[in-house]
Amino acid sequence: MPDARLDLVNRSFKLAARPVGLPKRSDWLYDQSPVPSPAEGEVLVKVRYISLDPAMRGWMNEGKSYIRPVAIGEVMRAGGLGEVIASRDANFPVGSQVSGSFGVQAYATARGAELSRVDPSIAPLPVWLNALGMPGMTGYFGLLDVGQPKAGETVVVSAAAGAVGQVVGQVAKIIGCKVVGIAGGPEKCDFVVNELGFDACIDYKRGPIFPGLAKHCPEGVDVFFDNVGGDMLDAILARIRMRARIVICGAISQYNTTTGIQGPKNYLSLLMNRARMEGIVVFDWADRYPEAIAAISGWIADGRYGSREDIVPGLEAFPETLLKLFRGENFGKLIIEVV
Ligand code: NAP
Repeated sequence: MPDARLDLVNRSFKLAARPVGLPKRSDWLYDQSPVPSPAEGEVLVKVRYISLDPAMRGWMNEGKSYIRPVAIGEVMRAGGLGEVIASRDANFPVGSQVSGSFGVQAYATARGAELSRVDPSIAPLPVWLNALGMPGMTGYFGLLDVGQPKAGETVVVSAAAGAVGQVVGQVAKIIGCKVVGIAGGPEKCDFVVNELGFDACIDYKRGPIFPGLAKHCPEGVDVFFDNVGGDMLDAILARIRMRARIVICGAISQYNTTTGIQGPKNYLSLLMNRARMEGIVVFDWADRYPEAIAAISGWIADGRYGSREDIVPGLEAFPETLLKLFRGENFGKLIIEVV
């Protein structure tokens, strides 16, 4: 039976217009509406944490992609975590802690098949949106399955202090690689070297990255995990080793361009070095997420793995908070805490 006590007001952000360049406040509609009771087979989730991801910028655009665009007037798509507060699915009783694609809103209705359980005894809830969530799965499978690093090889990762970058660098260290991060600013570089254990970090905001690459990757780069694209990808292409692997995970430097995406100029380096460049979409590994969760939670438990989240309070802060990703203002996995 629906919970007769439900008398709740939802708060959400809906897409009002397709942005040109960086999203503006007028591209969002803030909405308040009654929370419906769950139908048979559904649960009602009180959303506690919302994951803010660079991919959200792409979902706001029209056109073909790996997932359909968010429609105008629709609640913005976002991953989230929360607690079941009304249930018509016996598998997810009231009180269950769950993750799912809940959207940028305070309450979400979902079917059991769309939910995953999260276990706060393994790691605090926000970590389930980071190392044990989508970024963790991306870094783990993108690095190991596509980058295929071997012990002793040199792995370089861009946006190194961010959600995916943290995973890639730490997993690469655990399997015995030399790891060089690229990040913006001394604080982030200090974090990845001194707290996450990377071998070195190049601060790209200090100037061109070529001298740092020459210093820290004297024999060249075996695996480059690219989160940024643009000029950084070109700089790495000029320094790859024979049979290098470049994992195209993202290109955040290009997501808000109004003048067309900048492709790699140095791509003939792939030819000369018999190297390859391959794109990834994390959802392709969905049936193997438990394998990555088991591995990463084991490393968290034995103290070999650190996870940093940047938690911003208040659903209403969403439009401005999302921009932190594109301004490099987030430090770790960016999450909104719904209060
Ligand atoms: P994040 O790294 O936590 O945050 C984004 C970071 O990107 C910023 O903090 C900033 O760090 C850096 N950045 C932003 N604009 C930049 C620019 N113009 N030049 C250089 N760096 C810039 O975000 P994330 O969630 O881990 O995502 C990282 C990348 O992975 C994104 O490209 C995302 O789209 C991609 N991704 C792909 C998949 C997939 O399935 N393919 C899944 C998840 C994420 P600095 O301060 O260091 O500049």
